[in-house]
Amino acid sequence: MRPETLYLSPSRISDWERCRWSYLLKHVYRWRESATGNALVFGGAIDEAIDAHLRGIVLGKEVDPVEVFIEAFLRKVDAGPVDYGAKWSEESMLAMGIELMKRWPEAWQAMGLTVACDANGDPLMQREIAFALPGNIVIRGRIDLGAFTREGEFAVIDVKSAAQAYPETALVLNEQLTTYQVGMDVAAAELGLPKPERLGLIELIKRQVPKTSGKGPTIEPLVLTARRSEDQVNEFLQKVLWIAEDIRAQRFAKSPRMSFESPCTMCSWSRACTSKDYSDVDFSQARYVPAEVLQGMDAPAAA
Ligand code: SF4
Repeated sequence: MRPETLYLSPSRISDWERCRWSYLLKHVYRWRESATGNALVFGGAIDEAIDAHLRGIVLGKEVDPVEVFIEAFLRKVDAGPVDYGAKWSEESMLAMGIELMKRWPEAWQAMGLTVACDANGDPLMQREIAFALPGNIVIRGRIDLGAFTREGEFAVIDVKSAAQAYPETALVLNEQLTTYQVGMDVAAAELGLPKPERLGLIELIKRQVPKTSGKGPTIEPLVLTARRSEDQVNEFLQKVLWIAEDIRAQRFAKSPRMSFESPCTMCSWSRACTSKDYSDVDFSQARYVPAEVLQGMDAPAAA
């Protein structure tokens, strides 16, 4: 019998590798955090601002990314509770985003990139891609940006805000970029674009805006790397097949690991996992709700 389609993505693979139990709760049981993580809110608002600014360039229209960021960030904050953690607040994240978006137009110009447009003239930004693997597995992703370099090479680029830069030594292994390449290779002809010759990263490093002096948030220089070889792609795809096999076999072990690398301190489900305290879990979309939680509900969400 053909197995049910299993959808994976670079972020799901990363979740799986962080802790399989956490993957079970998030992607199989579909538990959600009762407050949205600040990284999601901030990153979403930055994506909107950069997207609007670059689309403006394509259309010959001036768009202020600072204005777009402020509107998007406040809209997302208003939409629901945000978990700012110990380090951030609404004000400090807003200030950081404004600072980064003030610098964005100049940083973009220095990168020497030209946004690529598909056969319909639409900019290749925030573009969903998907490709199938044997065994009814579908890998999905979203290309942040497709662009031509000064040398005329076509590159697919991941734009991200992060607490620290991606380690240079691991750049050739970055699975998001490998997924972009494979997805773009599949879609290239239909989009009227070449297969990517380069893979790139644009990183916005999150730091508090200093009150007096200090480094503050930065936009790192564009990093470009060669496209993955066939061997590198096959190595990644083999790993995905092994992960899919483990998921289908329901091998969901907890992974507290050693103290210096434990994912538990940053885990949204740590209370539920360690002491069956479900107070910070949102079960409104859940496929499975623990019996003790169901008993306390007026109308069970799912079972
Ligand atoms: S608390 Fe640790 S072991 Fe439990 S789900 Fe989270 S990361 Fe996994």
